[in-house]
Amino acid sequence: MAPNLTQVTRIGMVNAYLVGEADGLTLVDTTLPRSAKAILKAAAGLGAPIVRIVLTHAHGDHIGSLDELAGQLPGVEVLTSARDARLMAGDKTLDPGEEKGKLRGGYPGARTRPARLLAAGERVGSLEVVAAPGHTPGQIALLDTRDRTLICADAYSTLGGVATTARVTPRFPLPGLATWHRPTALETARALRTLEPARLAPGHGKVVDAPLPAMDAAIARAAG
Ligand SMILES: [Zn+2]
Repeated sequence: MAPNLTQVTRIGMVNAYLVGEADGLTLVDTTLPRSAKAILKAAAGLGAPIVRIVLTHAHGDHIGSLDELAGQLPGVEVLTSARDARLMAGDKTLDPGEEKGKLRGGYPGARTRPARLLAAGERVGSLEVVAAPGHTPGQIALLDTRDRTLICADAYSTLGGVATTARVTPRFPLPGLATWHRPTALETARALRTLEPARLAPGHGKVVDAPLPAMDAAIARAAG
């Protein structure tokens, strides 16, 4: 496991990450509802405050405890992509060009509004924002520039083996079934592979070190 990364897993299959920074912790995703206590306990164990929350995308198993956490962390900065912020606010209309796919999976929305909207190439502490559309229209991944850990959201899952969400995987079909547009998800899977991550930290499944051969195999399966 990377020294700056702590995985918090709920019900054995839904992940959030605590990323250590000089000024405290960045929480990436909030998992399911009623997970604030577990996440705050993990942060307390690291002896640092959560100073910001980044949401990779607007699905309910990623933003589920956002309101609860924001309520318990006064002053915490909330960040997500402009596109998925609109989904988080409850607006499920598609932008021009997005009608090629259909929104799938649960978008419960949240009361908390992001303070800052992220675009690809921006930085959040040590994390570089990488566009990762396909699973949702505005999904983002986050590359830790210190050690090339890639928090890949639901662009890849590692539960039951490394897989893209460009294809429904029988062993863990949920992220594939909740994917908006599979060809775009496949393009994203390829783009993330070109970043040559040292480890893959997905929304679902364990953290995988040296993931490039497994990513190549997953892309080949999805493309085949
Ligand atoms: Zn998702």
